[in-house]
Amino acid sequence: MYEPNKLVCDCCERVYDITNKRILCDCGCLLTIEIGDTDFNWSIVRGRPMEVWRYRELIPTPREASIVSMGEGGTPLIEMVRLNSVLKLRGVKVKFEGSNPTGSFKDRGLTVASTMALFFKCRAMIVASTGNTASSMSAYARRAGLKPIVIIPSSGVARGKLGQLKLYGALIVEVSGGFDEAMKAVIEYSKIGSDIYIVNSINPWRIEGQKTIAYEIIEQHGVPDWVVVPVGNGGNIYSIWKGFKEILRLGLIDKIPRMLAVQALGSSPILRAYKSGVYEPFKEPRTIASAIRIGNPVHWRRVLRVIEESRGAVVGVDDSEIIRAHKEIARLEGLGLETSSSTTLAGLKKALEDKVVDRGENAILVATGHALKEPEIIDSYDLELIKVDSVNDLISILSKL
Ligand SMILES: [Zn+2]
Repeated sequence: MYEPNKLVCDCCERVYDITNKRILCDCGCLLTIEIGDTDFNWSIVRGRPMEVWRYRELIPTPREASIVSMGEGGTPLIEMVRLNSVLKLRGVKVKFEGSNPTGSFKDRGLTVASTMALFFKCRAMIVASTGNTASSMSAYARRAGLKPIVIIPSSGVARGKLGQLKLYGALIVEVSGGFDEAMKAVIEYSKIGSDIYIVNSINPWRIEGQKTIAYEIIEQHGVPDWVVVPVGNGGNIYSIWKGFKEILRLGLIDKIPRMLAVQALGSSPILRAYKSGVYEPFKEPRTIASAIRIGNPVHWRRVLRVIEESRGAVVGVDDSEIIRAHKEIARLEGLGLETSSSTTLAGLKKALEDKVVDRGENAILVATGHALKEPEIIDSYDLELIKVDSVNDLISILSKL
């Protein structure tokens, strides 16, 4: 019997039609998009550009939907020759998501979510975030001809993060008082048929774009032993795992990789739940890696399931380890990553020390964002500066280098 694509509740397993605009189940739980029968295979995609929509048979947007795209995805998988040799690693490669249009992996999800916003005939997209999601949403809203709206809390927003939002002319709504309350109100508002589309991490269509990281890794490398992913809200590691599982189910690979989730220690409720079996949010999460500074991750249950089913692991790294890895990967390999992305290298080192990962195994580090996302951090690093008084001094210094 023909199996259609559908929206399925994570908790009560209620099924909704794929064209239903809702983003949560009536019971309040997250919804997953399940791919039905498909004629996808590798020969179909041959000849198509390396980008998210290369895999359109596995991204079940309605056929009538007009795709909103800027050629996102198709990011390079980069060999780490010096890093492997200096750190005595084997076969480590970096999937560099910083090369997406707005500088982070979020563009993969937003190309799909903005396509659906148009399909649902919305006039605006809304997100509660000041980080990479808000930047990406603003860009894709503009690409779709929609108004970008960003909700921020009145307390504690890094003004430096607002740059891209200013560029795209997003409407910023600052909410005083309970930020979580504001988000709940927006979700309730969306249920009464509003034409503003919510693209927070709970939106199931974003996962459908992000999972293409897995498809690309399979095409560029095959199935690695480990995939290492920074974990804040947990949506990305879940998406990548979902991508591998779908290809496995189609019989096009014969195993999935083990997933290594890396959290910053100051913001690590999933690590704590992994170790103790008890989940409890972090009230005041603290880490320099702001993209994964999340005290109560929406996808925590999914992450624990991914770790269990993939026989993976969760590790934590502190800020000094994150900074060391940030510099190391830039200075050994020339790659400028966001600090949250450099947790993958710090986390892999920890997993090797703890003998979770074997030195003979290979690993792909998913570097989620570009170094230029955090000008205040790279600007805080020491400058190697020599002042000279004359051309002779300059020559003498250069000859000693
Ligand atoms: Zn439900």
